[in-house]
Amino acid sequence: MMEQSPNASKPTQTVPSSTPAPKQQIICSHKNHPPDWQQQIAAGFSSPSALLKALGLKENDLGFDIDPDSSFKTRVPRSLVARMEPGNKKDPLLLQVLAKDLENEVTVGFVQDPVAETTALATPGLLHKYTGRALLVTTGACAVHCRYCFRRHFPYPEAMLDKSKMAVAFDYIAADTSIEEIILSGGDPLVLSDEKILGLIQALNSIKHLKTLRIHTRTPVVIPARVTTSLLSALNQWQGHSVVVLHVNHPAEINEEVKAALQHLGQAVDHIFNQSVFLAQVNDEVNILKSLSEKLFACGVLPYYIHALDPVQGAAHFAISDEKMKGVMEQLRALLPGYLVPRLVREVPNSDSKQPL
Ligand SMILES: *Cc1c(COP(=O)(O)O)cnc(C)c1O
Ligand code: SF4
Repeated sequence: MMEQSPNASKPTQTVPSSTPAPKQQIICSHKNHPPDWQQQIAAGFSSPSALLKALGLKENDLGFDIDPDSSFKTRVPRSLVARMEPGNKKDPLLLQVLAKDLENEVTVGFVQDPVAETTALATPGLLHKYTGRALLVTTGACAVHCRYCFRRHFPYPEAMLDKSKMAVAFDYIAADTSIEEIILSGGDPLVLSDEKILGLIQALNSIKHLKTLRIHTRTPVVIPARVTTSLLSALNQWQGHSVVVLHVNHPAEINEEVKAALQHLGQAVDHIFNQSVFLAQVNDEVNILKSLSEKLFACGVLPYYIHALDPVQGAAHFAISDEKMKGVMEQLRALLPGYLVPRLVREVPNSDSKQPL
């Protein structure tokens, strides 16, 4: 999500693993050495041309233009690129992260804030749209920048939590006993340090009416090394039920390393679910979604939602018609047990839940 915000910029200040460590690193204590996952965020691809080059693709052969200067910057961890097929300009993982010039085309109905999030803020950094659940925007940063993301234009500096906004948000949650579930979202909360995550969990533990902690994250998928023992011990501090909702769109995102990380994560949380976004040319075929559900299941993860694309300016080339989505879901229902079929939903501004299609 978005450019790095000032208080989420830690990963970019770390030394990429591919660069020799500067001298003073040698005298650093082990404790101050950034964890591997932070180095992986810092060492990710930050331009479409570098990404294409790594995959042996030539800009001239693509058949479309890329946008090297998008204000929503390129950010792609090498671990994810390693799962792409070299030389395949239609690779479904590449298409999710490659900044195309098409993003600059203005499409009727595709807007800056498609789900009206900026008007749903209960306090800065806290969205309270649905009964019983409130969502904390913990950071604007993500480990990967997905080109279809509905938050690509979100005004993070205003919406994000700093210390004083955090206090206001926590007062709001503490005062409303109808809130039983807190969702840590962003951006991606797992780009925060284990220390910060632990601090959030401890603060939430003191609000006695909270029953469930939910974390929405894509980081363990794109950088499986994020699932560290110290993250798990932070998560273990939570006193109530815990849920992680991952974001995987295509079966090729799941390799053995991801599987091991998810099995590890499953030891610290009660449930792991997945949400996907229905994306043209990425996962708009029944066999792809079937394989995705099966692979998730093999990792101990159940499919939860598949979202119709939010009509955000810049993402129109990912859109699929409702008819097509419904048709694919009907085929999927005929092939899989019900618990492996995600619910097809759409975010409708000012409604009291996600809306089934
Ligand atoms: C999606 C969302 C939730 C969670 O909705 P569920 O249907 O419970 O997954 C909560 N708050 C906000 C603001 C959301 O956008
Ligand atoms: S889809 Fe999720 S991981 Fe991707 S940019 Fe948006 S918030 Fe970040």
